[in-house]
Amino acid sequence: MGIIPALILRALWLTRTLKKNQWLPEQELRVLQTKKLRALVKHAYSRVPFYHKRLRSIGLYPDDIKGLDDLRRLPIITKEEVERARTQIVADNINLKKSFKTHTSGTMGHPLRIYYDPRYLDYITASSRRYRSVLGRKSWEKTAVVRFSDSNSKGEVGPGIAKRTFHSFRRNYSRNYYISYSANDIAKEMVEFQPDVLFGRPIYLRLLAEEFRRTGHKISPRLVLSRGDILDHSTRKFIETTLGCDVYDSYGGNDAGPIAWECREKDGYHMEADMTICEFLRGEQNANHKELSDIVVTNLNNYAMPLIRYRSGDKGSYRSGKCACGRTLPILESVEGREKEFLPARNGERLSPRRLQEIAYGDDSSVPMFQVFHEDGHVSLHVYGEDGSDDSISDLKSKFSDVFGEIDVVKHKENAKANMRFFLNKAS
Ligand SMILES: [Zn+2]
Repeated sequence: MGIIPALILRALWLTRTLKKNQWLPEQELRVLQTKKLRALVKHAYSRVPFYHKRLRSIGLYPDDIKGLDDLRRLPIITKEEVERARTQIVADNINLKKSFKTHTSGTMGHPLRIYYDPRYLDYITASSRRYRSVLGRKSWEKTAVVRFSDSNSKGEVGPGIAKRTFHSFRRNYSRNYYISYSANDIAKEMVEFQPDVLFGRPIYLRLLAEEFRRTGHKISPRLVLSRGDILDHSTRKFIETTLGCDVYDSYGGNDAGPIAWECREKDGYHMEADMTICEFLRGEQNANHKELSDIVVTNLNNYAMPLIRYRSGDKGSYRSGKCACGRTLPILESVEGREKEFLPARNGERLSPRRLQEIAYGDDSSVPMFQVFHEDGHVSLHVYGEDGSDDSISDLKSKFSDVFGEIDVVKHKENAKANMRFFLNKAS
């Protein structure tokens, strides 16, 4: 068999396997996770200098990992450790030139360089095909991806007939739209394209929906898929009401890979337990059902740069019990946001980014692009761009003053940066 048919067969087999896995009895899912975890630890010990040194230093060897309960004997690693390890955390039998490179957004520090081996890329593709089937997406449906650009670069197509032909063919089915200073232009272009499926970070989807609401222009997507950030309840409702369709959210990152998604029940997120093990920890202990905890992930398939017990920096909770859809993949109840973005309210409570977004967006009013900083016991509200009216700024100030007490407002003429975080606790 030639290499291409073999690759296609493999991709089909992988997609079929993942689709089956979502209905596996719980016990079988655990057996699968155990098998994958043992193979991963063996690989990490023999091929990844970082893990080799780390495990030897605590006298732990791959054969000690016999079951899932042994996972907790492995050390937890942080983003900072991965950053310091550099290529020491990359497997020595991986050709870096042939592996796929990506990075984290770097909004909380330096971007982290991440390597995926080709086999893991196949898993990511299969996982996204599985999710397509969960939502009943068809390959011919037109998709629009909303991104943010703080420059004018919009990925021009280079020379070459083949490249341009492919590009124009692809444009019939899939287009990127860049929100920069105003959603006005892209809203008009999108009316012409009439996408069936819309993708984007929740804030950009919201800006777009606000534009449609303001102008009365109309698109009628079948689905909106939010990813890459916290989707608060009010923003979800706002987009759903304005665009007249369901919004589904998913959770994951470039570092740890795809982690969880909402099925059509929209009652929590199914964790892709055949791809990733998620632990919910309070200190060293396992958290209880629905308890706010640290999300620690083990990516079972990326052998180029294994992340084993990797502290994601996110806080969230899991839920016991089954989803009404019948899938056995366990339930992530909620992601509340990154630890460094929790801010202390004046009553002493630490408010999660999800709660704070709810405060900002809870009443359907138009909200300017903003950031809230907490530093040295002081809270400041920064607003960006020239679109925000004085009324909308003072309205937002009053919402945050209710929870934080006295608050400064700093107006910036320039627009917000791409991937900007809303909340930042500079004290922690
Ligand atoms: Zn479900």
